Amino acid sequence: MQIFPIRPFNPPGDIPALRQQVRDLVAQHESHWQLESRANCWFSFDEAFSKALGKAGLLAMNWPKEYGGHERTMLERYVVLEELLALGAPAGLHWIADRQTGPLLIRYGTEAQKQKYLPGMARGEIYACIGLSEPNAGSDLASVRTSARKTPEGWRVNGQKVWTSGAHRSHAALTLVRTEEGSERHAGLSQLMIDLDTPGITIRPIVDMTGSHHFNEIFFEDALIPLDALVGTEGNGWKQVVAELALERSGPERYLSSHALLVALIDAVGPEPAPDIAQLIGRLTAELWTLRQMSMSTAAKLDAGEDPVVEAAIVKDLGNAYEQALPRLVQAAVDADLADRTDLSRLLVWLLVQSPSYSLRGGTPEVLRGIIAKGLGLR
Ligand SMILES: Cc1cc2nc3c(=O)[nH]c(=O)nc-3n(C[C@H](O)[C@H](O)[C@H](O)COP(=O)(O)OP(=O)(O)OC[C@H]3O[C@@H](n4cnc5c(N)ncnc54)[C@H](O)[C@@H]3O)c2cc1C
Repeated sequence: MQIFPIRPFNPPGDIPALRQQVRDLVAQHESHWQLESRANCWFSFDEAFSKALGKAGLLAMNWPKEYGGHERTMLERYVVLEELLALGAPAGLHWIADRQTGPLLIRYGTEAQKQKYLPGMARGEIYACIGLSEPNAGSDLASVRTSARKTPEGWRVNGQKVWTSGAHRSHAALTLVRTEEGSERHAGLSQLMIDLDTPGITIRPIVDMTGSHHFNEIFFEDALIPLDALVGTEGNGWKQVVAELALERSGPERYLSSHALLVALIDAVGPEPAPDIAQLIGRLTAELWTLRQMSMSTAAKLDAGEDPVVEAAIVKDLGNAYEQALPRLVQAAVDADLADRTDLSRLLVWLLVQSPSYSLRGGTPEVLRGIIAKGLGLR
C-alpha cells in the first residue's frame, strides 16, 4: 500500500525571529488594507508592500545572490509565505514571479533573461503572470493554439490567452505557445517570456461577479517578440510547464485562502462559544493542522531534491476542499445576518462568492485525482 510519509520540517536559523520580522513589516503597512482583501490575499495587490518585502529580503529568498536572491532555504521561504497568508497580507503583485516565473528562469532561462528580470523581481518591482489557459485549453492544456512563428526579425505571435491573473499589473507573461506549425498536443510547444508592453498585445479585463478585476484576456495580433525571449529549449515547452506547475501545487496558499474567516469567527464568538461552534472551530483547526503537516512535509521533500508530485496533488485537492468548505460550514453554524457589516459577515459574503474558484486555479479536482491515480499506479 502507498503511504504519505511525513517528513520533518526543520528550517535552519532563528525561525521565531523570521516570523516576527514578517509580522513587524505587516504591522507597518496594514492600516489601509481592506478587510476583504485579507481573505484570498494572494490575489490582492499593494505595490508598496511588495517593494517593502523585497527590500527586507523576503522575496526571492532561495534564489542565487548574483540575481538578487538571498540563498536561504525553501523552508524559510515557506515560513514567510505562511505568515503572510495567515495575516492576510496582499501578496498578489509579486506572487507569481516569486513562486514560479523566477524559479523557472533560474532553471531554464538564458543569462540575459536572468539579468533582465530576476533582480527586479527580487526587489518586488517586476511582476509576472502565467500565460497558459486559452478559450479551448484549460484542463486540457495540450490543446494550446496560440502560435509563434520564427522569422529573421523575431517570433510572430498570434492567438489568445484567458483567465490570466494580474496581467494588467504585470510586466511580462511566461507564455506557452505552439512554435512548430502543424504540431499537436504535447509536441511543438515552447515558452516565451513576453514583455506585455509589446505592440500587437492587447490586455482586456474580465470583471468577476464580485466586481473585482483580477482576470484578463490577452490578445496577440502579429506581435513581434524578440528571438531571445525563448525560455529553455524550442519544443520543450510541455516538460517545462509541467515543472512550472509543480511549483504551485502544495504551498500554504492551497489551504489558507479562507483563513481570515476562521480568525474572524474565533474573535466573534469569544472565549466561551456555544458547544456546536466550539466543535466546528475544533474540527476546522484539526483539519488545518493536518493539512499544514502534509504541506510542510511536501515542502521538505522538495527541499531535499525529491519530486513529490502525488503528495503535492493530494495537498492541493484536500487543501482546496477545506478552504472551500470553511465558508459554507461557518454560514451553516453561525446566525450571521449577511446584510450587516460585522467583520464576520463581510468576510463570509466575500468568501462564499470567491471560494468556488479555489479548486479551478492550478488544476481542478478531477485533474488532480487523475494525477494521484496515475502516481499510485491505478491508471
Ligand atoms: C482564480 C483563477 C485564477 C486563474 N489564473 C490563471 C492564470 O493566471 N493563468 C492561466 O493560464 N490560467 C488561469 N486560470 C485558469 C485555470 O487554469 C483553468 O480554469 C483551469 O485549468 C480549468 O480550465 P477551464 O476553466 O477551461 O475548465 P475545463 O477544463 O473546461 O473544465 C471544466 C470541467 O470539466 C472537468 N474536466 C476537464 N477535463 C477532464 C477530464 N479529463 N476528466 C474529468 N473531468 C474533466 C474539470 O475538472 C471541470 O470541472 C485561473 C482560474 C481561476 C479560477
